[in-house]
Amino acid sequence: MSELRAEGLSVTYDGLVAVHPIDLDLEAGVMLAVTGPSGAGKSSLLWALAGALTPAAGAVKVDGTPLSGRDDAAARGVSLIPQGNGLAGALSAEENVLVPMLARKVPPQEALERTAAALELVGLEESGRHLVDELSGGQQQRVALARAFAMRAGVLLADESTSDLDADNRERMIAALRAEAAGGAVVVLATHDPEAAAVADAELALDEGVVSWPRPLPVT
Ligand code: ADP
Ligand code: MG
Repeated sequence: MSELRAEGLSVTYDGLVAVHPIDLDLEAGVMLAVTGPSGAGKSSLLWALAGALTPAAGAVKVDGTPLSGRDDAAARGVSLIPQGNGLAGALSAEENVLVPMLARKVPPQEALERTAAALELVGLEESGRHLVDELSGGQQQRVALARAFAMRAGVLLADESTSDLDADNRERMIAALRAEAAGGAVVVLATHDPEAAAVADAELALDEGVVSWPRPLPVT
C-alpha cells in the first residue's frame, strides 16, 4: 500500500517545458490514465514520478517522504515500465523477470515462484525460456508487465505498456493492471487507448505539457 504525491512537479529540457507544474495526490488503490498526443509530456511525467529524472521544480513523495533518485524509488517499491519495455534482449523472458527480484534480495525460491506466476498471468508460461529478442513486440510488452507484476510494486508506472497488444491481450493486461490497483497499488498508465483510459478511475490529459482533467480523481 503506497500513496504517491507530486507537488508543483515540472519537467524541462534546455528551456523546453515538457510538463507544466502539476499537483497529484494518488491514494493506494487508484488507477490513473495519462493521455495526450505524442510529445505531450506523458513519458516525462512518468519518469519524474519514478524519480528517474530531476524535475525542474517540485517534488515527488511516496508515503510522505520525498524520492531521491531512481534507486531510492525502486527500493521503495516504485516500478517504471518504460516505453519500449527496457528489457534485456539477450536474456530469456524468465531471466528478465527474475533478475530484478534477486537484485532486490527476494529469496531465490520465492523469486522463481513469482516469476512463474507472473509469466502465467500474462499468458507467457510457454515462452519463459525464449530470448526476449526472439519474441514479438506484443510478447515483449507482456514480459515487461510480468516483470513489474512480479516485483509487487506499490507504485506501478506503465508507459504505453499495452500499445502493441492484440485486443484480447490488451483487455487481459488492462484487467491485470486494474487488479494491481485493487490489491492496493497506485497504478499510472500512459496510453493512447481510450478503452484503457476508460477503465482507469481518473484521466489526466497532457497537451504540450499543460495538464487538464477530462475525468478528475474521485473525491475521498
Ligand atoms: P510523450 O511521452 O507524451 O510522447 P515526452 O515526455 O516523450 O512526450 O516528450 C515531451 C516533450 O519533451 C517533447 O517535446 C519531446 O521532444 C521533449 N523531450 C523528451 N525527452 C527529451 C530529452 N531527453 N531531451 C530533450 N527533449 C526531450
Ligand atoms: Mg512517451
